[in-house]
Amino acid sequence: DKNVQDNLYFDSYSDVTIHEEMIADHVRTNTYRMAILRNSSAIEGKVVLDVGAGTGVLSIFCAQAGARKVYAVEASSIADQAVKIVKLNKMEDRIDIIKGTLETIDLPEQVDVIVSEWMGYALLHESMLNSVLFARDKWLKSGGLILPSKAELYIAPMNDLVADDRLNFWSTVKSQYGVDMSCMTDFARKCIINNDITVNPVTVEDVLSHQSKFAELDLYTVTVDQLKSVRGSFSCDCFGSSTVNAFCVWFTVTFPDGEKPLVLSTSPFKQETHWKQAVLYLDEPVDVEQDTKVEGEINMYPSAESSRHICIHVDYSIGQLKMQSKTFSIPDGY
Ligand code: SAH
Repeated sequence: DKNVQDNLYFDSYSDVTIHEEMIADHVRTNTYRMAILRNSSAIEGKVVLDVGAGTGVLSIFCAQAGARKVYAVEASSIADQAVKIVKLNKMEDRIDIIKGTLETIDLPEQVDVIVSEWMGYALLHESMLNSVLFARDKWLKSGGLILPSKAELYIAPMNDLVADDRLNFWSTVKSQYGVDMSCMTDFARKCIINNDITVNPVTVEDVLSHQSKFAELDLYTVTVDQLKSVRGSFSCDCFGSSTVNAFCVWFTVTFPDGEKPLVLSTSPFKQETHWKQAVLYLDEPVDVEQDTKVEGEINMYPSAESSRHICIHVDYSIGQLKMQSKTFSIPDGY
């Protein structure tokens, strides 16, 4: 039931650990800081809505950028800490912490700017973007600013050595302890190569082609209905001889900034963030050579059982191999 799911979701944000992970993610927090400060001409003297304020960090950045008023909406009990942080920074006259869900709270006025850090694993896990769009449609003045304003999704084939190492491990036991466990490999494969979306840091060397963008969301125009299926096609040409045993999926979000927009990237080619990358294991590895085509379609949608859980369906072909299909989902506990 949706209420139970939402309570579980907000409870996960009432603990210190998740906020520690987010604030300590320097790429994340500093990109938001730069983006807010560089948009200060649009923020100065204006009214801002922070959707899912957490500790209030983004609200304080906005106040530092000169906002006249910031409404910091937060449903979980971390809001109590945000109140203290705002006081400690002497900004209680300009930042109002509003404890409640964005969908149910009331504001005294429309806002000029919406800021939110809503991205989950594989971008759409948690489905928090729905709340940002709700806020946009209900509270943003026409011509208002949304930070960030665009999101993009990428895919590339990869050779995941983590899985290889874990499968190979069972063949190394005998040399360590004199007990042959090599027959465990098949069982390990069943456990590891499943339909879960695995959140792992992917190293550049494991990525087998340039990235292919398969979807783009314009936060000014995308609708809640469109988020029920975010889909697109992809096509990649392999760099050289290797074995594809997984797909790697990641995202960027972009902040407007005059001529040169600011990009928060979770690409494996860039500095690691707490989002890492989403790894989708194939049932059967496929050998590739230079210029082997890896192409297909990818569809991301909320799970039927739990709307905050993301599913990824991939139809793909690799070289001459006929089209394959596989559906992945984020396991419980994420
Ligand atoms: N803005 C903070 C926290 C980001 S995490 C930061 O950048 O550090 C997202 C936060 O949004 C969580 O604290 C979560 O509880 C809150 N949240 C998610 N959906 C919400 C909703 N519909 N209404 C109110 N808060 C929400």
